[in-house]
Amino acid sequence: MEIASSLAAAARGFHARGWLMGTSGNLSAVVQREPLQLAMSPSGVDKGELKPEQLLSIDENARVVNGRPGKPSDETLLHLRLVRDRGAGAVLHTHSVWNTILSDFYAGTGGMAIEGYEMLKGLQGVPTHEHSEWLPIVENSQDMTALAETVAQTLNEHKGAHGFLVRRHGLYTWGETVAQAKRHIEIYEFLLETIGRTLHIRGVHAGV
Ligand SMILES: [Zn+2]
Repeated sequence: MEIASSLAAAARGFHARGWLMGTSGNLSAVVQREPLQLAMSPSGVDKGELKPEQLLSIDENARVVNGRPGKPSDETLLHLRLVRDRGAGAVLHTHSVWNTILSDFYAGTGGMAIEGYEMLKGLQGVPTHEHSEWLPIVENSQDMTALAETVAQTLNEHKGAHGFLVRRHGLYTWGETVAQAKRHIEIYEFLLETIGRTLHIRGVHAGV
């Protein structure tokens, strides 16, 4: 299945970049809409070794429907919500060092504004670097139903957002296709690392 292969390839690539260490993060893509069928990464699998045949097919209630062993990630509810509310065709979630640091650093303002960078043009529908992208930050929780509700409310207030951060946890973004969602991860990870390193170098120069 082409979708499973592209998700597994994305996972291995993100792992190689240090954005999905160990068994962290998760990936999904819509296989069919009616009834909903989602290819979803299984819980507890090293993302550097994820194979297409390990992807689970789940329905709209997060039940595995293709009979494979394995359990979908606890965060499946968030994926399903993004597919439903945002019309996402693919949802990708990374745990990088920089997204973790900045999700905490900017948590007090509920998000971070990313402005003036050429790489912003890699986000779907952004035509110029003269753009201010608000990346919302939500508090982490192990209660996935509550977290999915918080995310839905937050994104409802920020309809132009292409992604969000979960505090001290990671980045979520999505796209119409796996390729578009993968591009969004790469753009966000580039921008977050750039901002993080800029803050660091300024601090060093200021003697902080
Ligand atoms: Zn996570």
